[in-house]
Parts: sequence; structure tokens; C-alpha cells
Amino acid sequence: MIQKPKGTRDILPDEVYKWQYIEGVVRDILENAGMGEIRVPVFEHTELFSRGVGETTDVVQKEMYTFEDKGGRSITLRPEGTAGVVRSYIENGMASQATPIKLWYEMPMYRYENVQKGRLREFRQIGTEVIGTESYLADVEVISLGAKIFEALNIPNIKLNINSIGCPVCRQKYQEALRDFIRPNLEKYCDTCKTRFEKNPMRILDCKEQKCKEMNQGAPIILDYLCEECREHFEKVKSLLMNLEIPFEIDSSIVRGLDYYTKTVFEFVSEDDGLTVLGGGRYDGLIKEIGGQDTPAVGFAMGVERLLEIFEKYNKDVIEDYNMDLYIATIGEEADLFATRLVMNLRDEGVFVEKDICSRSLKAQFKYADKKKARFVLTIGEDEVKKNYAKLKDMKTGEEVETKLKAEEIFSKLFE
Ligand SMILES: [Zn+2]
Ligand SMILES: [Zn+2]
Repeated sequence: MIQKPKGTRDILPDEVYKWQYIEGVVRDILENAGMGEIRVPVFEHTELFSRGVGETTDVVQKEMYTFEDKGGRSITLRPEGTAGVVRSYIENGMASQATPIKLWYEMPMYRYENVQKGRLREFRQIGTEVIGTESYLADVEVISLGAKIFEALNIPNIKLNINSIGCPVCRQKYQEALRDFIRPNLEKYCDTCKTRFEKNPMRILDCKEQKCKEMNQGAPIILDYLCEECREHFEKVKSLLMNLEIPFEIDSSIVRGLDYYTKTVFEFVSEDDGLTVLGGGRYDGLIKEIGGQDTPAVGFAMGVERLLEIFEKYNKDVIEDYNMDLYIATIGEEADLFATRLVMNLRDEGVFVEKDICSRSLKAQFKYADKKKARFVLTIGEDEVKKNYAKLKDMKTGEEVETKLKAEEIFSKLFE
């Protein structure tokens, strides 16, 4: 038997309603804030990610699904959403539309992750991008939407951590300080860290190797190296968050694993297990980096699998599967034809209704209705068709009522 590839999962009809519920809540929140949904290709030219996400990041160095297509192009399945969305923003000339451009997406992402640690290689992310504003107000709007999502989904124990990782100006001084800190131990770092030392020492800070992590203890923090503009920006973000009573803590260890971040970065972390559910930040350099005008932007992304897992923990019985309203059981060909028409009329009224399409016995039909948790069953034979009356059985109480075989009357009996 052919099985699904490692790190993928199937979402079956009996659980998909939970996804739909979460997606619906999040969509309402984001669209009420003026965000339009965008859908971009699953694969892009590899260069988009190596330039956008950063050549020295874990994502690009270790985790991408990259292959050559039949035309000899290097293609990569998107490992994250922002680069593709920004590429689309540039390519479609969105800069000429009302600014800021506010976008959201829900898309599958692909990373060659360590499956042993429960990570998926195909996973879904919901993300937002606000493009064309350098104001701290945009940072706070995006953060507050993140906070709103957890509130609306009734997920407690979520902590907001923020940090500033500065701009290219302050980062230069910081990287020097970081190199000075790392240099005495450089030989003991892993090979990946060694290659990052010259090009991008900040990436050494998110190495997952235990020995590297230990040596990183006590490294200088970027907050001490912020330039005037970055410092002021960060102060304004903090004070507006306080004014809005959105609790946060400053966590100078947040560097985010993608190179495009600047200034504000943030993570919503579950206090239950310490894992990040939603992460994001400002990326003022990305749009220029991949060929657009110099345009500031800010956004976030969250893993939907992770969000669902934590949602279910606190909301066991909040949402119910959408079950069948009515099953129409039939005896004989005449009744079957009659029922087929009736089902169509009822579906037009918005009723979730099924009838037999397997030419099965009455007993088998009842069994199916029972398994599919039909709320009501209506049984139609030759006699019922003649009289235009049948019995409608409530499957929970066993109670029966007579109904005319007209869609409107059945509808009112089902929902009165
Ligand atoms: Zn700066
Ligand atoms: Zn390392």
C-alpha cells in the first residue's frame, strides 16, 4: 500500500469542521481590519527565497524543497508566505493602490523538518502583511490583531514577547560586538555556525545545536545597540501597547529565523509548553531586496495545526460537527423517484438531506441514517406518495409527527 509521505497529514471530513471554524473566526477578524485575502503559487523561483528569506538561514540552508523542473529552472515549494506575497505585491503593481496594502493568507507551506520532533513537512499558516507604512502604529495594529485572535478563540495562557532587532545601521555595530563575543570559541561551534560567522553572525543565535546554544549564553543583546530611530520606534510600540492594555514582555532573545526582519519582532508563546504559536515583525528591507521600491512593511504568521491543537485543549465542546438534518428512506421505485425530487427541493431550502443512492434495503438505509447521525428520518413508500403524507421520526426522542410531503412543511417541522 502506498502511504502518505513523512511529515504530511490527511484532514478528514470528521475533523475538517474544526479547521473551518478556526479559519472562519480568523478571517472575520482580519477582514474587518481591512485585510484582503491573497492566494499565491505553491512554488516560486528558488532565488526568491534565497534572497528574501536569507541565504544563511536554517530555512534556506536546510529545510527547502528545491528541485529542477523539466525546463531546467530551480523551483522551490514555498517554505513561508511573506516572500511570495511580496513578490506578488511588486509584480502586480499594488504600490499604486490605496496605501497601506493590507493582505492576509492561509496557505500550506513546505519545509524539510525533523519529523521526530512532531513537526510537519507540509503545514498550514495563516498570515498577514501590511505593506507601505513605516509607522509604529502598523506594528501595533498587527500585534493587536494577533492578540484578538487568541481572545476570540478563547485560548488562555498566551504570552506576548516583543523585541527590536534594529535596522542595518544599528545591526552593523551589533554584529561586530557579536563576532567579538563568539570569536574566542568559534572553533567549538558547529560547521553551520562557522559559515555564518562572517556573513551573518546573528543567525548563530538561533542555532539549535546544544553546544552552540550553551556558548551563546551571555551574548550581547541588540537592544543595547539600537540607533536613535530604532530606539524611538520601539519605545512608541511599547507605550501604545501599554495604553491599549495589551500585556507584553521584552524578550531580547527573539531574533526570528528569517533574515528579512527589522525593528519590531514579536512572538505569541503558549505558556503551557513554551512554544511559539504566532510570530512576526517588521521587514522594511525585504521589498527592495527582491526588486521593488524601498517599501516598509510588517506582518505575522501562525501555524494553523498548532493553533488548532491548542484551541482544542481549551474548547472541547464549543463547536459541533455539521450533521445531517434529515434522511429520507424509501420503499419501491415510485417512492424513490418522488423522494429524489423532494430531496432536491429541500436542498434548495438549505436543508442538509440525504437519501439512498445505493439501491439498498430499508434496513440498510436506516443503518446508514443512524451512522451518519441524521436528526430526523422520513420514510416514504407507495402509500405515502398516494396520500402525500408521511411520518417524520425524531431520532433522538423517537417521537413521530405526520407531515405533508411538501418541502416548506417539512422544513418548518425540522426547524420549529
Ligand atoms: Zn537602527
Ligand atoms: Zn551551531
